[in-house]
Amino acid sequence: MNAAPSCTVRTTCPYCAVQCNFDLHVEQGLAVRVTPTKECPVAHGTVCKKGLAALSDLRHPDRLTTPLLRRDGQLVPVSWPEAMAYVREALAPLISSAPQRVGVFGSGSLTNEKTYLLGKFARVALQTPNIDYNGRYCMASASAALNRTLGIDRGLGFPLADMTRSDLILLVGANIAETLPPIMQYLKGTRERGGAIYAIDPRATTTARVAGRHLAPRPGTDGILALGLLHLMKSWGKIRPTAPAHGLADVLWHADNYPPARVAHECGVPEADLMTLARAYAEARTPLILTGRGPEQHTHGTDTVQAWLNLAFLTGHVGKQGGGFGTLTGQGNGQGGREHGQKNDQLPGARSLRDPRHREQMAAHWNVPESHLPQPGYSAQELLNACGESGEGGIDALIVLGSNPVVSAAGAGQVTERLKALKHLIVIDFLPSETAELATLVLPGSMWCEEEGTTTNLEGRVQRRRRAVSAPGTAREDWQILCDLAHAIGRPHGFTYSSFRDLQDEFFLATRGGKADYSGLSAERLDRASAQWPVPRADGPDTPLAYAPTYPTADGLATLHVPRVPAPDLAPRALHLTTGRLAGQYQSGTQTRRNPALKAENTVQMHPDTALAYGLRAGQSVTLRTAHGQATLPITLTPGIRPDTLFIPFHWPDTANLLTDPTALDPHSRMPGFKITPVTLLPAQDPALHPAPVVASGPASLHATP
Ligand code: SF4
Repeated sequence: MNAAPSCTVRTTCPYCAVQCNFDLHVEQGLAVRVTPTKECPVAHGTVCKKGLAALSDLRHPDRLTTPLLRRDGQLVPVSWPEAMAYVREALAPLISSAPQRVGVFGSGSLTNEKTYLLGKFARVALQTPNIDYNGRYCMASASAALNRTLGIDRGLGFPLADMTRSDLILLVGANIAETLPPIMQYLKGTRERGGAIYAIDPRATTTARVAGRHLAPRPGTDGILALGLLHLMKSWGKIRPTAPAHGLADVLWHADNYPPARVAHECGVPEADLMTLARAYAEARTPLILTGRGPEQHTHGTDTVQAWLNLAFLTGHVGKQGGGFGTLTGQGNGQGGREHGQKNDQLPGARSLRDPRHREQMAAHWNVPESHLPQPGYSAQELLNACGESGEGGIDALIVLGSNPVVSAAGAGQVTERLKALKHLIVIDFLPSETAELATLVLPGSMWCEEEGTTTNLEGRVQRRRRAVSAPGTAREDWQILCDLAHAIGRPHGFTYSSFRDLQDEFFLATRGGKADYSGLSAERLDRASAQWPVPRADGPDTPLAYAPTYPTADGLATLHVPRVPAPDLAPRALHLTTGRLAGQYQSGTQTRRNPALKAENTVQMHPDTALAYGLRAGQSVTLRTAHGQATLPITLTPGIRPDTLFIPFHWPDTANLLTDPTALDPHSRMPGFKITPVTLLPAQDPALHPAPVVASGPASLHATP
């Protein structure tokens, strides 16, 4: 049912994982204004500029309002029946003969219900093993480390408000001030109670400036830094494990290899600064380590996060109120999006597709035989790399929901070629992303306030997203489109819902007994208050603290793993590219690049000394070349970045991810190495002034496929 023509609807922001609440004011059926609400349990009335500008996309002239089918090389408007006829002709023969040649690519921005339905659609209707999503490019390494160690993956196992109880916060590669601004109020609370904050980042970000204490290790060396701290904690008698666990002795023995001199040298930080940080950690009562994408987006990202988690666990702080370890999830539903079945190896409720008991449970829920469910398939980058390949293992048709891998995937140039080679590329989206521009069929979907659902924020807090307005033109709600697809291919079983509420109740029930158990939730309960999972009983409490021993592992014990982190490239003139976010932009920029209130510049950030050494000046265009591609863009000079590091934001096409590697993946998380790529720098202009390119490249050790 649509909202009244004029009304105020309480809902959540479409962007990041804080999931601020605000009131959306609707007049005559149109959303006209958002106002923050102090009742928001996370942001308490603050929102950032993205949230305040979120209405701009709703009626943007580029909104997709009708299906578009490629004919004679052009995308032309067609009716929904024509679109579904194409789907039937394209997919029905494939799923009968070779369902594994159909791929599905989802998103960490989808609601929990869409995440659930997309996974069900892939496994029950298409019967393909090949579904994965863009969360592989986000927090997958932290997720893998938490699962391997504690058997549970809730980014923050505690409410954000607990941060203020910490007396020392280490922000490792997490630029909160620009990417999750409302959380700064909790850091302020920490400071007001006398706590200290360290930012560990190769760039002096806004967060680092606010923190006041900054350590700038080489990109890719965060794990070595954590090992160095563990070495010192052991030397100083500060080891008191949080709980009995497997692997303690091996991890402690391994840390012996990382004395301060080695760590300072490899990380490129003064040894005195390392010792100051170590003393602060050793003396803190409730130190809290928070990782962002900096240590995670590496081909050794899981091991790097493991090193920080080991440190927190072995010094007795995991699960302590205000202390321990957490990861700051980025995408709007990056937490719920990684729990309910769009990962290649996962079933709803954070169940495993490899576990026979979990397979039986979900098969029964879906009323299909267990043998109907495929085994795990490709991870995200592997799926994209297989697109258009004609041989065994190739993908002929890909369905993309709410994601833009042409911009966000590693090796975007190669990925674009692979997508062009597909026989069928079906994209469901609300704006014409660069991926939609390559599609054979585009289906117009719904935006955040045009649909019902729930999202789960970075502290595992489930909240309602409410519909305030209708999608424009003939655009349909995404969940309805997925059901349409199932019917079009002749697999309607389980894809007929009388209302969204039917689907939502089925989803909540599907999670019963899983680690991420939402089965005690209902829309009515969430109207009364948000809840942190697990919530296994309708008449029971939620779980603000998720990391208390015993852990949901086979024997209730945690397992620490020895982190394998590579030695860095120490060549004197080595230069490395790192990529990341800008304030005001979101993900691949499909929405925020179109928003005039969020204008930002796509430049390469460079230290002035580097520019001087290479004979470059501010504003000049340079070409960056790696083994995977090249990109040209202007220079911004910033003294806050390491001289051996270049930074490019990843929100624009044809720049950052043309340069990253699409083949080397983390062995546990299947994450590409977005945060470090050896790069060659050459001026793109003034060839007479700069006749010879200056080449800096790294050894194979940092660049090897694990
Ligand atoms: Fe809040 Fe994030 Fe939205 Fe900003 S983008 S308003 S921080 S949810």
